Amino acid sequence: MNFENFILPHIWNLKPYSSARDEFKGKEGVFLDANENPLGSGVSENWNRYPDPLQLAIKEQLAGIKSCSTDQIFLGNGSDEAIDLIMRMTCQSGVHNIILCPPTYGMYEVSASINHIEQRKVSLTQHYQLDVEGILQAVDQNTRLLFLCSPNNPTGNKLNRSDIYTLIESFKSGFIIIDEAYIDFSDEISFILELAKYPQVIVMQTLSKAYGLASLRLGMAFAHPTIISLLNKIKPPYNISGATQEIVYKALSNVSFKNESVKSILSERDRLKKSLINVPGVIQIYPSDANFILVHFKQANDLFDYLIEAKLITRNRSSVALCEDSIRITIGLSEENDKLVQLINQFYKA
Ligand SMILES: *Cc1c(COP(=O)(O)O)cnc(C)c1O
Repeated sequence: MNFENFILPHIWNLKPYSSARDEFKGKEGVFLDANENPLGSGVSENWNRYPDPLQLAIKEQLAGIKSCSTDQIFLGNGSDEAIDLIMRMTCQSGVHNIILCPPTYGMYEVSASINHIEQRKVSLTQHYQLDVEGILQAVDQNTRLLFLCSPNNPTGNKLNRSDIYTLIESFKSGFIIIDEAYIDFSDEISFILELAKYPQVIVMQTLSKAYGLASLRLGMAFAHPTIISLLNKIKPPYNISGATQEIVYKALSNVSFKNESVKSILSERDRLKKSLINVPGVIQIYPSDANFILVHFKQANDLFDYLIEAKLITRNRSSVALCEDSIRITIGLSEENDKLVQLINQFYKA
């Protein structure tokens, strides 16, 4: 595959900023190279030294966990950064376009709008699956990116894998981004394991959901080493802070927390579904492969306001096409889910 065809020439040819920590990678020595404060930071831990720009310690852990190599991993300040960099690397405003399949994660659209890139929207079907024919009709020779989200947010379901394969086989003018932010909650196998076979695929994952590290902002992109090195070339040099790298390193050494969390969230998801299924105002609970459920309610807007009144915050998706009268509910702690069910029952009794 000739990646150069999909990358903007000024990015392909860019000579990146070379930081002090790029030029000297040793750990021992007297460091008079980066204009840091040698005295420390004035708090109990010292953060006075610039962090590893390529975050190798965490990437080595992730390579083990995700069964890939470190040169297939890009780390960003949240998935947001990866989304933005992928767009800036591939799309020229006024020339190229991307394809989105709503209802889906809102950042693809926002990021494309910030970068002033044409978006072609091909809605999911009534069952929240890909309209493969529609997508292929929307593609032209200037389509550089196709965003797929599986399991999808806000609908919760995974996309049919056979549809994704069809698109990979048929769409050859750019990259297919598969956002797997919720893969840990699903029985689906990650496309990371198929990157060698499908070099035009970029997989995105995050530590914000199952790993419980949303506040640290660590998003991951997995792709062919050529793509990863281009992303590394255009990212801000120290995009992952030293504090984040240190805490993530500790968190990734404790895999059982993630596994136990997933187990408990999935069992709560089942319990919540069972307690909602017979509530009179519930029209439909959509199938979920994620840590949330999308529920179609009678009078969803009023219910949403009622819950807010009681300081229980959900995500109202009623104004989103194909999600009319639906609320997205994150699976909480057992007592939080109980409170939700109690309030919903109260609302429909009143
Ligand atoms: C939550 C979420 C992310 C994660 O975003 P971060 O910036 O890594 O916190 C990515 N994609 C989807 C679809 C999400 O719902």
